[in-house]
Amino acid sequence: MTSRVRRAGRRLLPVAFAAAVGGGVVAGGAAPAAAGPSIGVKIYDPVPDTAALFREWKRLGIDTAFVSTTLAESGTFVPAARRAGFRTFVITPVFFNPEYLAAHPDAWAITGRGAKAKDDWVEFVCPSHEDYRKERARYALSLLERQRPDGLSLDFIRHFVFWEQVRPKARIDPLDTTCFCPRCLARFERETGLAVPAAAETSPRAAAEWLLDHESEKWTRWRAGLVTSWVEGVVRDARRVAPGVKINLHLVPWGESDYQDGPIRVAGQDVRALAPLADFVSPMCYAHMLHRDPAWVGRVVRDLTARVAVPVLPSIEVKESYRQEPLTDAFFAAALDAALAPPSGGVVFWSWPPLAEDEAKQEIVSRRAR
Ligand SMILES: [Zn+2]
Repeated sequence: MTSRVRRAGRRLLPVAFAAAVGGGVVAGGAAPAAAGPSIGVKIYDPVPDTAALFREWKRLGIDTAFVSTTLAESGTFVPAARRAGFRTFVITPVFFNPEYLAAHPDAWAITGRGAKAKDDWVEFVCPSHEDYRKERARYALSLLERQRPDGLSLDFIRHFVFWEQVRPKARIDPLDTTCFCPRCLARFERETGLAVPAAAETSPRAAAEWLLDHESEKWTRWRAGLVTSWVEGVVRDARRVAPGVKINLHLVPWGESDYQDGPIRVAGQDVRALAPLADFVSPMCYAHMLHRDPAWVGRVVRDLTARVAVPVLPSIEVKESYRQEPLTDAFFAAALDAALAPPSGGVVFWSWPPLAEDEAKQEIVSRRAR
């Protein structure tokens, strides 16, 4: 395919991207799609006819499947997609895990108000919980061993925040961040050599107020390190288990200084430390959901590209969510153009079902891929 999208992308490909997508042996052995900007789609549930699905994707110029663990585990989807020539990533949720929390109530992350890290469907595990860290790492590696995808797409590699509901001008109260549980406080003391006042050791609120007043910088770095170190360990093991495996990281779609250094201070995503561990980073640029204009997608890509040395693959939404106003064809087309503009490494559509049922948006996609 010699599409405008591909030509534009190839001309501006960073070296790292060409190496990442064109590089020989991959986990599972089959050849991935040819080098070029990645046109991906997130898919969560099985479809009745996978052969027809793959034909549709090819018609639209889609070359990469981001597959839920449910779909990956349901049987034959990943190998079939690989055989059909698609690059495959399994979307692996990390610190979001309602099932685990239902069975392990001691594992909840705790906010500075002493509350469980829960907001609607968003439920987060404490990132210091060693059993959980090990179990999740084993699970991620087992996906590689059993499903043989080309890569892992690590999702919810962060601290608790319902970022989908954070408006552009909002302020995020530090007391609503995590994790101030006794396990984290003890680990912080052990690993930094700092002592939290005795009164704060049993009160998340007192701990949060003291830490944010006295050791804000150290606390912020340390809690981001909990996320980074998990990714570091898993990536090291993944590259041993499946040489050539690709790693994609889902990132909150915030500029470095948005929400007062929100990426690191709230989400605990130290992008400069995380990106070198990965082959791609993928900010979830859901402009309509977040009450942004479509051009904002391009700003997120440019801001992130300036901070990392790997290709940035923005994910964009196909249909409205969390709001009544429809996501129009014009909005979608403008967001897609912004997502694909240099220095982008491609785009990932969220998600397949709304694209499957919308011929006008399919036309927009295929026109840009033709
Ligand atoms: Zn904790």
